[in-house]
Amino acid sequence: PLVLGIESSCDETGVGIVRGRTLLTNTVASSMDEHVRFGGVVPEVASRAHVHAIGPTVDEALTDAGVTLDDIDAIAVTAGPGLSGALMVGVAAAKGLAAATGLPLYGINHLAAHIAVDLVADDLQQPATTSGAGDIGQPATASGPGDTGQPATASGPVTPSIALLVSGGHTEILRIGDLVDDIELLGATIDDAAGEAFDKTARLLGLSYPGGPNISKAAAGILDGTGQPGDPASVKFPRGLSTAKDLRDPARRYSFSFSGLKTAALRFVTAYEAARAAGSPETSRQLTDLRLADVTASFETAVVDVLVTKTLLACEDHGIDHVMLGGGVAANRRLRETLAERCGEAGVTLRIPPLNLCTDNGAMVAALGAELVTRGLPPSPEDFAVFSSLEVRDVYIRP
Ligand code: ATP
Ligand code: MG
Ligand code: FE
Repeated sequence: PLVLGIESSCDETGVGIVRGRTLLTNTVASSMDEHVRFGGVVPEVASRAHVHAIGPTVDEALTDAGVTLDDIDAIAVTAGPGLSGALMVGVAAAKGLAAATGLPLYGINHLAAHIAVDLVADDLQQPATTSGAGDIGQPATASGPGDTGQPATASGPVTPSIALLVSGGHTEILRIGDLVDDIELLGATIDDAAGEAFDKTARLLGLSYPGGPNISKAAAGILDGTGQPGDPASVKFPRGLSTAKDLRDPARRYSFSFSGLKTAALRFVTAYEAARAAGSPETSRQLTDLRLADVTASFETAVVDVLVTKTLLACEDHGIDHVMLGGGVAANRRLRETLAERCGEAGVTLRIPPLNLCTDNGAMVAALGAELVTRGLPPSPEDFAVFSSLEVRDVYIRP
């Protein structure tokens, strides 16, 4: 089936078109630039930007795919989770299109779509490069996950698998028995999402929004122009919910906590500034000798360490030897490399979709929609609402 998918849950207006498991186009307009001066996504600003972008983005996607609305078999749209006002713009547009064309409409779960994008990911698998475009803030088309080694050895999504979903709003470990009927949440963050931790810590360190890419650049020694990567062992940042006791507790074993990192980063900045002000006794000289690269590399490693360790624990516990990485934080090179390395050691296959399919996009919504159509599942009720905190197991809004 030819399916058009619309995504508007946060600051990206995305429209994707797929034919079965073939991706025809993935068109994205982002309002990210409008949020920079506020240091984070402002819901009102995002909603207004969606209103402006949605029509032109649909048109552009149709043109790019070389199809017209008459060719489309079904429409899919993100129904949640996300910002209510932002979701409403996409859902209203999709309902309008469905009403005008008589096409069936599917209300899709954004998190399930982040996983289902793997259905069309092979299509876009990029050749290996060494540039790691994701780390310099353009998780775009030029560079794929190939620079982590060979993560993608299987063809198409493999089930059962363990999925690590890491973005600005979510950090979850999922067991995927089936893309539609069996997604189980094994654990999630109990406070900040991983991307949020990057963004908040970046702000404390004086780096601008979005913090994730800037922390990566700083850690690689790109920001200070030295090209000298930082020492990841130079500052001790906490590993949340990772003591032996936490790991024995079934409620904490796959859970994350990243809020302690903010406190640790704040404490570090305070001590650093005090040491600078105080002049140079021996201990403070060591502290002030630290480069931003050292601090950011240590921070990054603390986050990545916990994410990777718990993902592999989930594999081991469930006897599963396939992992999929999704969400915007998949742009982080240290995460991709460390996960690839540890999966390799454990004999686990790793799949990482191209980075433009990891960040929010319409192709993932279309991909899941096409899977629902292919399976003969009925569309959502005409009057379905948006759900700002839809849980991942509710893969779509069923009639
Ligand atoms: P959600 O998908 O949960 O609704 P979102 O739209 O904010 O949330 P994405 O667009 O998928 O999520 O990802 C954005 C997040 O990814 C931001 O927090 C950003 O800092 C983070 N990020 C982007 N690039 C990197 C990087 N290289 N390293 C670490 N984090 C990164
Ligand atoms: Mg986003
Ligand atoms: Fe997302």
